[in-house]
Amino acid sequence: MFDKIVIANRGEIALRIFRACRELGIKTVAVHSDVDRDLKHVRLADESVCIGPAASADSYLNIPAIISAAEVTDAEAIHPGYGFLSENADFSEKVHQSGFVFIGPRADTIRKMGDKISAKKAMHAAGIPCVPGNGESLTMDNNKNLAMAHEIGYPVIIKAAGGGGGRGMRTVHTEAALINSINLTKAEAGTAFGNDTLYMEKFLEDPRHIEFQILADSFGNVIHLGERDCSMQRRHQKVVEEAPAPGITEEQRNYMGELCVNACKDIGYLGAGTFEFLYEKGEFYFIEMNTRVQVEHPVTEMITGFDIVKEQLCIAAGRKLSLTQEQVTFTGHAIECRLNAEDPKNFMPCPGVIEQFHMPGGPGIRCETHIYNGYKVPPYYDSMIGKLIAHGENRNSAIARMKTALSEMVIDGIKTNISLQTEIMNDNAFVTGSQNIHFLEKKLGINN
Ligand code: ADP
Repeated sequence: MFDKIVIANRGEIALRIFRACRELGIKTVAVHSDVDRDLKHVRLADESVCIGPAASADSYLNIPAIISAAEVTDAEAIHPGYGFLSENADFSEKVHQSGFVFIGPRADTIRKMGDKISAKKAMHAAGIPCVPGNGESLTMDNNKNLAMAHEIGYPVIIKAAGGGGGRGMRTVHTEAALINSINLTKAEAGTAFGNDTLYMEKFLEDPRHIEFQILADSFGNVIHLGERDCSMQRRHQKVVEEAPAPGITEEQRNYMGELCVNACKDIGYLGAGTFEFLYEKGEFYFIEMNTRVQVEHPVTEMITGFDIVKEQLCIAAGRKLSLTQEQVTFTGHAIECRLNAEDPKNFMPCPGVIEQFHMPGGPGIRCETHIYNGYKVPPYYDSMIGKLIAHGENRNSAIARMKTALSEMVIDGIKTNISLQTEIMNDNAFVTGSQNIHFLEKKLGINN
């Protein structure tokens, strides 16, 4: 096992990684920006290194600064968490070239799966069902693009090959809007991702978002930990996640899980990863793979009793997976509500000082957050300040526990989305498990 690693992230996931390290007896180095000195994991870590000013580009995305921090502290490996550099193949490569272990897949895998066009091609070749569309990058030949959309059938969606975070996609309902939409998305993708390559696929109108968690070690062993439903979204970003997905049968789980496991073997996958699908009328359609730990990993942990972050560390240290597929079992149901520092009405971020914080508790309740009384939420980063997870013997009991936990939770001093999450937990369509990816925006009166 490693003696010491660098945690190249901030907030709740940095704390989560810190805790897994403590449990495994690994020393930790927290790297942080100059406004993040008071982060909980920075205070708790064995060592800390300031890697730059507040702006992410100068700190959490500053590759030389992070690698230097590993050098000066004699660390052996770097855990990137999610977001920031977690899916940056160049970072993974430079970490290796500098003599450290990158806790994640190999650089070539990240590169292949990070480009949605090559990911779709690789998955198609591995026998995974994909969203209809030929998976080729779009040229600027208007006639060809019009013919392609006609063949797929409207509505279509124009997506950036390098897109992420719910950005870089545009739905097109009519032929008249196609060319202009392609041009707009191309310009936006170039600015946002430094890559203006686009592709086109069918826009599915009422799907659910269902994803499969997998883990692969360096001995060629691969397992899946079942699926999560992340259909509660706003602006293509997840708000509530749960496991298992309502209505998915054991047969579907085993079938899709095995397809994902085989695809991982096909591409020589290493570490934790997620296959994301849209699910409509009983069919799964691959949309992308995330080559890192995900925000919503705790719901899978709650129903499997398995520690995904600890397993990531063990895999990177060269150990075999600690479970076989036959040993994976699922117990009960878990739901996660993302807690954001934002105005619940207009979703504007709401940074500021936490004047009063009270964490809920009770059976099946887990709270993953770095905030504490007096902590100042800075305005420079994502507005997510934590996650509340409820586990129960079935979906109804998980919802009931979540409602109680949300009502107990106190976060004063800033605005949060606790009231919105409470509203969702009380919504009849959610309670009956009949949500789809457009449900929340419709409920909020948002039209795309
Ligand atoms: P990102 O990498 O930005 O998260 P994804 O490809 O994972 O992008 O898509 C995010 C979300 O966008 C999906 O969960 C879904 O809500 C929506 N989406 C993506 N592709 C389609 C599609 N073909 N049809 C309908 N919705 C889509």
